Parts: sequence; C-alpha cells; structure tokens
Amino acid sequence: MSNSDYAKQQLGSIQTRIDRACAMSQREPGSVTLIGASKKQSIGLVSEFVESGLRNLGENYLQEAIDKQGQCPRLDASWHFIGQIQSNKTKLIAEHFNWVHGVDRLKIATRLASQHGRNSPINLLIQLNPDNEETKGGVPFSAAAELCQQIAEIDGANLRGFMMIPRARHELTQQRAVFAQARTLLESCNQRYGLGLDHLSMGMSGDLESAIAEGSTMIRIGTDLFGARD
Ligand SMILES: *Cc1c(COP(=O)(O)O)cnc(C)c1O
Repeated sequence: MSNSDYAKQQLGSIQTRIDRACAMSQREPGSVTLIGASKKQSIGLVSEFVESGLRNLGENYLQEAIDKQGQCPRLDASWHFIGQIQSNKTKLIAEHFNWVHGVDRLKIATRLASQHGRNSPINLLIQLNPDNEETKGGVPFSAAAELCQQIAEIDGANLRGFMMIPRARHELTQQRAVFAQARTLLESCNQRYGLGLDHLSMGMSGDLESAIAEGSTMIRIGTDLFGARD
C-alpha cells in the first residue's frame, strides 16, 4: 500500500471511532478535534497525513517539530506542543506553536504569553496529573483551580482548559471516572471565576472512546493513527 493510501485508511478508521463515540453520547463529531501525535514518525509519513487532511499535529520534541514544520508548510495546519516544557525553551515554543498543552507553572505561562510574537494570544492548556506520577508533568486536581485563576489574568495568554495523560486503565468505567473529574473541574472553574474554558485535551489510542463520552474536545492519537513508533 502506498503511504498516501495508508494515511487515508488510517484517518478514515480513527474518524469512524470518533463518529461512533460521538453518536453514543449525542455529540457532534465536529466537536472533537483529532490531533496526530507525530513524535518519532518520519517527516515523509507525517506529510502524507497532512496531504490527506490531518490539520492538527502534536509534537513532544522541539527540534524535531521545527524540522517537520519546515517541510510541511501548510498555513492551515495547527501545531500543538504536547511535551514537557523546559523554561529555557519557551521562546521557541511560543514562536512555533499555536497551542501549548503541558502548562503546569505560572512562570511558564507568563513566559509563553510574553514571547509569543504573533497578533493572536497563545492558546494554553493546564496539564493535570491525576495519578500524581513523578514521571509526568502536571498539577494535582487540588492545585488546578488556583493556577487556572492566575493564568487567566495574564495578558496575551488565552487559557482554554485542561490536558491530561492518565495512566492506562483497562476498565471503561475507571477510564471514564478520571475524565469526568477533569470535566467537573473545568465546569467549576468556569463558574467560580467567570471563565470561558472550552477545551479538554484528553484521550489517546487506548481510551479515546471514554474521553469523548466525558466531554473531550481534543484527542491526541499516535500509535493508532500513524502506526508504531521507531
Ligand atoms: C505520544 C503521546 C500521545 C499519543 O500516544 P499513543 O498512545 O501513541 O496514541 C498522546 N499524548 C501525548 C502527550 C503523547 O506524548
């Protein structure tokens, strides 16, 4: 199969999963954005997916992302930084990405907002760490509301909601329970602080159906879209 046929087939099968999950919870399929988590995938393969209609790319490693952006120069593609953020890299991240998903400190948000050169504010998502895993970034649920209130006040930052990478759970009810906590938190931050947070970046290859059932608006899919990584 050519790379182009492969890309169309893979995009079609993920879209079918999104459509089914949306139908089960009476949601519009257009309310869920597919982000291709393209770390460690070749530029040639990622370009075929972009040619075939993928418009949102999620990257974890800055230099790898900048190389890909140079070779997939589509003005209508959005680039999402989904990796861990080092504070000495915020300028390059701000210059190369439309969305940053892993914000977990006020200082990082302030730097990103001030270093973002373009006219529109940079879109930020606060990362939650529901299982308090040391290997992952993010703040515990208990600290999220305060950080949310602080970031919302920064000029040039467009705080949009939350992102998380829960550890794998095999039971659907357990997957849903942790996603539901994020949704409840978003609703309560909106109410308490009068914010208009409108995005939940949650759901990956193994749990996208549960995430969509609990209100995810952005799913980040690597393996089930592009195939296994190197
Ligand atoms: C790699 C990655 C994904 C995609 O993971 P898959 O299990 O391959 O779908 C999603 N989100 C983040 C933050 C990642 O690093």
